[in-house]
Amino acid sequence: MNMPVLNVPAAPPATDPLDSLFDTLFRPMNAQGVYARTGAYESVVEALAALISSRREEATEVFRFPPVMSRAHLERHGYLKSFPNLLGCVSCLEGSEAEIRAAADRHLAGGDWTTGLETADLVLTPAACYPVYPIAAARGAVPRSGYRFDVACDCFRREPSPHLDRLQSFRMREYVRVGTPEQVAAFRESWIARATALADDLGLPYTVEQASDPFFGRLGQIMAFSQLEQSLKFELLIPLRGAAAGTACMSFNYHREHFGTTWDLRLEDGEPAHTGCVAFGMDRLAVALFATHGAHIADWPAPVRAALKL
Ligand code: AMP
Ligand code: ZN
Repeated sequence: MNMPVLNVPAAPPATDPLDSLFDTLFRPMNAQGVYARTGAYESVVEALAALISSRREEATEVFRFPPVMSRAHLERHGYLKSFPNLLGCVSCLEGSEAEIRAAADRHLAGGDWTTGLETADLVLTPAACYPVYPIAAARGAVPRSGYRFDVACDCFRREPSPHLDRLQSFRMREYVRVGTPEQVAAFRESWIARATALADDLGLPYTVEQASDPFFGRLGQIMAFSQLEQSLKFELLIPLRGAAAGTACMSFNYHREHFGTTWDLRLEDGEPAHTGCVAFGMDRLAVALFATHGAHIADWPAPVRAALKL
């Protein structure tokens, strides 16, 4: 079967024009895609977060999640079927004092302490909305009006890259809707409009395009194909390198009844709830602002600074 190769990101140019921004935004921390953030950069991330909060809909519940989550929950989500290559798992030295001491001493003697590691019950959270579905399911039947959540998390994905718009550790903010298929469809439609208005306010050029997730392996290509066929994902792409393909800075996702079935999250009539989310890549949006308007915030267009209160 000759399937088209989906989801292969456009190869960035050999010399990345974004590199000139690195010193303004980041300091190296001895790992690709894991950076210390400068005060200027962080002021933009905070301003963006406040702007997104100002657009929060009525009756939205707020949760902020830690950067780790239950391994059992992530396994139940089906993450290992879809993105096993991106997952980071916590491992620790467990056991008696003597066992832990022996592992640490191996390092002090120039050996390998990591052979003593045991897999823990935690993974690094790969998307901000995952922890919210079991919380919602624990409440019993979803009320008629459904749920709206505002969630955020430091996320990890094992995709080391020298390019500063592809991080291993990055911030994700999401609005999540749980309810009937109609409620979720209306949510996604309205958020595509709200999110593009937000990008307009920020003076960011963009296109909104149908997309698929980078599902792992050959089977993954079939999953991606089906996701495209059902129009389950759209992305807001911002050109960060002139005419080259844009970078996905927001995504609009419809999961159908996947999480409803997984978590036994049901509507009052017993049918599995449908869910959807709009995700804001906070770091990519901040990089996009600097790439579009320049390294000096003071020189950004006045309406953009006004929108961000910067
Ligand atoms: P996704 O769940 O893949 O749709 O991701 C949601 C958003 O997170 C994307 O639209 C990006 O803005 C952001 N994102 C995903 N992966 C990365 C990454 N490796 N580095 C920075 N931001 C990312
Ligand atoms: Zn989500």
